Amino acid sequence: MTQPSDPLLQDLLDTLGEEVVFNGDRIPGKARSDESRTGHAMPLIYLRPRTVAEVSEALRLCNAARWPVTIQGGMTGLAGGANPEAGDVALSLDRLAGVEEIDRDAGAITVWAGTVLETAQKAAEEAGFLLPIDLGARGSCQIGGNLANNAGGVRVISHGVTRDNVLGLEAVLADGTVISSLNKMQKNNTGYDLKQLFIGSEGTLGVITRAVLKLKPLGEGRETCLCAVDNYESAVSLLHAARKGMAGLSAYEVMWRVFFEFSSKAEGLRFFEETPPFVVLIEQTSAASIEAFLETAFEQELISDAVIAQSEKQRLDFWKVREGYALDHLPDLMNYDVSLPIGDLDAYSKAVTDEMLAAYPQAHVSVFGHMGDSNIHLCISVGKADEADHHAVDAIVYDHVRLYRGAVSAEHGVGRLKRAYLGHSRSPEEIALMRRIKAALDPNGILNPGRVLPAEG
Ligand SMILES: Cc1cc2nc3c(=O)[nH]c(=O)nc-3n(C[C@H](O)[C@H](O)[C@H](O)COP(=O)(O)OP(=O)(O)OC[C@H]3O[C@@H](n4cnc5c(N)ncnc54)[C@H](O)[C@@H]3O)c2cc1C
Repeated sequence: MTQPSDPLLQDLLDTLGEEVVFNGDRIPGKARSDESRTGHAMPLIYLRPRTVAEVSEALRLCNAARWPVTIQGGMTGLAGGANPEAGDVALSLDRLAGVEEIDRDAGAITVWAGTVLETAQKAAEEAGFLLPIDLGARGSCQIGGNLANNAGGVRVISHGVTRDNVLGLEAVLADGTVISSLNKMQKNNTGYDLKQLFIGSEGTLGVITRAVLKLKPLGEGRETCLCAVDNYESAVSLLHAARKGMAGLSAYEVMWRVFFEFSSKAEGLRFFEETPPFVVLIEQTSAASIEAFLETAFEQELISDAVIAQSEKQRLDFWKVREGYALDHLPDLMNYDVSLPIGDLDAYSKAVTDEMLAAYPQAHVSVFGHMGDSNIHLCISVGKADEADHHAVDAIVYDHVRLYRGAVSAEHGVGRLKRAYLGHSRSPEEIALMRRIKAALDPNGILNPGRVLPAEG
């Protein structure tokens, strides 16, 4: 790709002005990379539109010039999707922010795409509602990024993924056409559900500018516990028992022994005499007590020990261990985010660990995950790693995903980092159909090129 012609920069400046169009030293360093820290190039032009009309004008001009556009939200993504190529136009949604409306009757909140998730959560809470979308990056990620990535997070077990919490959406196509479908109704069967095309498309089909999200009642209480579990079968049975017997089950997070031991030691926290093979963090938000449920689980020998958080500090300590931030200090940590049928999660983890330790005897391999959502995260470090090591580890992790008919991404998206492995989880026919949809909506291929779909040929 050559440098953008002066005419494009001039057209953008003439149409949108210097307050929206940035180049050279005026481009902020954060435009280089998302949280995967794999972006190394700065965009040539950086746009900060303030209105949908400005987004539309910007795309119309870039499309006419056939110029690649990288869409940037809160830059917390972990798949390299928001990382520009040198020479790209980067379009940031950060100024298109704020809560437009909370409709109590409809149980719906209308927000601009650049709104930080936590801001929208707080606005909902002040109005007496729960905005169910929630993830660790809530303080920086944006609603538009959450939708573009169909984010998962910690409330999926009770409220589904982001896609399940969207009523309406507005997006701008590559040619500047605005598709405004700000539906507030729970039911609407009038033709294709177009919003679902944009949700999870990782910015390859359109720029999301606004969304109508579902609001739910706030929980009446909160209790959190850690359960020691002796084997995987019991962890699965405990999940089913919690789903059946716990009114407000809101989190069911499983930590395999290596992960729990590493993370709790690093945080200087100790909850059990001996580290059990599995530790399950359960949270519920009903007014009922968790104790009766745990007593039954003991009697049925599903758990061998349990600790109920006695204070907010202890609850946060449980979550600190589960977040596993200490693992980030392992050299060249590789994070994987895969989905498999729940019954196969442990066998898969064992198979990957065995092959990893055969190839790299010094490797750290630990596992935790949102088990109720059939999603686990693998944290792998082989020490200082070069490109060949990254490829070798990717191949081990993803080849086993293919064997188990799983998904190479459960929630972080495909982005740039997993596009070569899309064929491990999707058939050639599915990928061909994705290409046809992409060509129909973005015939010049200007929106987030080099993401999601594998390279052709
Ligand atoms: C500490 C931490 C915890 C995390 N926990 C979770 C988790 O539990 N679950 C989970 O799913 N993810 C998690 N993530 C990953 C990340 O936060 C999510 O993917 C989030 O949804 C990305 O939002 P963002 O605004 O930062 O998007 P960005 O990183 O800016 O962009 C992500 C992708 O979306 C595109 N995009 C952004 N905005 C728009 C828009 N308005 N229109 C069209 N395309 C757009 C970008 O081009 C890019 O391809 C975590 C990340 C961190 C750092």
